[in-house]
Amino acid sequence: MAIRKVARMGHPILREVAQKLSVEEIQSPRIQQLIADMIETMQEYEGIGLAAPQIHESLQIAIIGFSEKNGRYPGAGVQPLTVLINPKITVIDSTLRGGWEGCLSIPGIRGWVERPSKIRVESMNHEGRPQVIVAENFLSTVFQHELDHLQGVLFIDRVEDRTRLSFLEEYHRYWPGGAKQESEV
Ligand code: ZN
Repeated sequence: MAIRKVARMGHPILREVAQKLSVEEIQSPRIQQLIADMIETMQEYEGIGLAAPQIHESLQIAIIGFSEKNGRYPGAGVQPLTVLINPKITVIDSTLRGGWEGCLSIPGIRGWVERPSKIRVESMNHEGRPQVIVAENFLSTVFQHELDHLQGVLFIDRVEDRTRLSFLEEYHRYWPGGAKQESEV
């Protein structure tokens, strides 16, 4: 396994639509190694999600996982480590939910983003088996942030009120009500 370098905003790979994978490709040693690297990289950076383009691989793979143990996400619950390949989102509840988002590819910045509060994600798991996941609230936000990466979209594109775009230090100082999300994804 290896910790991989994270691509930052401005790198063109973050703006590409990532390629889909066949079941055969998913099961190949190369992709299994890539998934292992993604997990190790996410853990190293203390992220709660990571998409393959963020480590310079333009492929439709995202991972998400967090626990309440580290205290960063009170009330968010636990999300076991989940690998999503070729994901497709369907909105179940379009009521918008706002949250402060951060991104490993845009370090040190936070922005207020509103997204549908409940979604269904159809995808394949790390073995190439189909899976359906329903996510709401905080988890819905994390999934949509990650899956945006596979379409070349960054959270900063979705910040409608640009007065709610902040460096981390100022965010902690002036936006205490929103200081729940500490991590980058
Ligand atoms: Zn991100």
